[in-house]
Amino acid sequence: MNLCDAIAVVRQRIAETAERAGRSADEVRLIAVSKQQPPEAIEALIACGQKDFGENQVQEALAKIERLNNPPVEWHFIGHLQSNKTRHIGGNFNWVHTIDSAKLARRISQSACEAGQCVNLLLQVNVSGDPAKHGLAEDELAPLIETVLEAGLQGIRLRGLMTIGYREIPESETRRSFARLRELLESCRMLYGEAFSELSMGMSGDYLLAIEEGATMVRVGSALFGARNAWHT
Ligand SMILES: *Cc1c(COP(=O)(O)O)cnc(C)c1O
Repeated sequence: MNLCDAIAVVRQRIAETAERAGRSADEVRLIAVSKQQPPEAIEALIACGQKDFGENQVQEALAKIERLNNPPVEWHFIGHLQSNKTRHIGGNFNWVHTIDSAKLARRISQSACEAGQCVNLLLQVNVSGDPAKHGLAEDELAPLIETVLEAGLQGIRLRGLMTIGYREIPESETRRSFARLRELLESCRMLYGEAFSELSMGMSGDYLLAIEEGATMVRVGSALFGARNAWHT
């Protein structure tokens, strides 16, 4: 199957699931997770209308962003971000999904300001309690948001929450953790305002479940591209 057909299948599944859940397909942004895929695969998807791409390694992403030379797409950073790599975010990425400290937010803001840009940030929450996952415990969320908002950072905007499902748990628990993230987003929206509108949850194995539970962004890699190719710079 070529990539245009593959993404049409994923989009169709998203639309059907959204409709069944009483939602509009327009509420769900499909992020094509292009990590370890060659730039040609990204170009092929751009040519069939795909707008959002996710990468999890800064160096690999920069090599692709440079090679693709400013196509009309939004780049999402979805990997664990080391603070010494934050200087590359401004001017390259529109979204970072994995914020778990005020220091990261401050440093990204600085790099965005230098690039004359504003980066959208999502806070990563470890709702499934996976011991191996990065991300905030629920009780760390409000203090972090308040610290970031009080800092008045000009180069970033807090937009919502992200989580990574834990593969080792049954589907019912994954569903419960997605539902919990949605509740957390709703309370953030009440406390901190309408800008908190995004829920990034769901990958190849669980994106339809995530849509049923309110995801506004799904991060799909292997279900779209097939196995990862280990493309390196
Ligand atoms: C790799 C990755 C994805 C995509 O994973 P697939 O299972 O291939 O869809 C989504 N989110 C994050 C954070 C990832 O690292």
